[in-house]
Amino acid sequence: MKPDLRALTRPELEAALTALGEKPVHAAAVYLAVHRLGAADLAALPGVPPRVTAALSPAYSLSTLPVPAETQVSCDGTRKILFRFHDGAPAECVVLPAKDRVIACLSSQSGCDCGCTFCATGALGLRRSLTPQEIIAQFEACLREAGEISSIVFMGMGEPFLNWENVKRAVRLLSDSRGRHFPQVKMTVSTVGVIPVIEELTASDLRVRLAVSVVAADEETRARLAPMEKKYPLRRVLEAVRAYCRARKAAVMFEYILFPGVNDRPSDSALLAGLVRDIPCRVNLIPYNPPGGPGGETPRVKAFQLELIEAGVRTYLRVERGADIAAACGQLAAKNKEPRG
Ligand code: SF4
Repeated sequence: MKPDLRALTRPELEAALTALGEKPVHAAAVYLAVHRLGAADLAALPGVPPRVTAALSPAYSLSTLPVPAETQVSCDGTRKILFRFHDGAPAECVVLPAKDRVIACLSSQSGCDCGCTFCATGALGLRRSLTPQEIIAQFEACLREAGEISSIVFMGMGEPFLNWENVKRAVRLLSDSRGRHFPQVKMTVSTVGVIPVIEELTASDLRVRLAVSVVAADEETRARLAPMEKKYPLRRVLEAVRAYCRARKAAVMFEYILFPGVNDRPSDSALLAGLVRDIPCRVNLIPYNPPGGPGGETPRVKAFQLELIEAGVRTYLRVERGADIAAACGQLAAKNKEPRG
């Protein structure tokens, strides 16, 4: 099978053109045609000399970007977009319009094998990781729905750091100045704590922001809710996060879903504050929304926030969106069905 031009970064495209005896400078026009002008035919790339397309055609293919199977609209304006890729693998992305911005929440995998007990995606298991093209297709679908996207979060289905090569490639493709030119600093990648990839990100030239899902501050509860704790304990994850913040001179975002009676007690807020106080961070508190509801804010949510603030931790209470279409945090669970013939 010929390699897909759509998955090549611009430096790779330049190298490919050079190897074919063409000038690497044409890579900019090819890139623009494929990633911004929506070209679907390798033989007719707008703005690219026919000699260059003729040289590329025998060696490369140009895939068609997948299109969504279905879109659901929430009463609060949130839109959930469902894809079924060529092999039937499902994935969902979400458009979250806020007062002054629009967030695109993208999936990195179809399903997930991390097994977090509170997460509808985790209950599906892993079907497979998504390709860079499938990740980009989600962004393009969100862009078509919203007209404009202010920021991207990799917080949909899957653990992005367990599909890091493809997520990284999608980040490079989306941020290229001849493509969508989407700033890397406006992309946030969320992990439940894959330490080697946090370390790799720290050392890399990527400017994406890091978010870490804390789940619970005590080891026992965390291991019960997020089995990844056994492989990458939170305290070691936080060491890697400290190194990231020092090297990047950046802050990290901690995500903390509040499970009533499980991790929302005063002792939990005290433990959490003790763990993160010395880290430049913001803690996003998310009231738990079980799949099928009811969930949302309990009296402890505001109290928990206040306890963290009083302990000196910057804290933000996230207003959950799209619960009526199961688009809220932890609810994405496109069923693993094959498309109907
Ligand atoms: S919370 Fe994230 S890492 Fe955990 S099972 Fe769900 S998608 Fe996977």
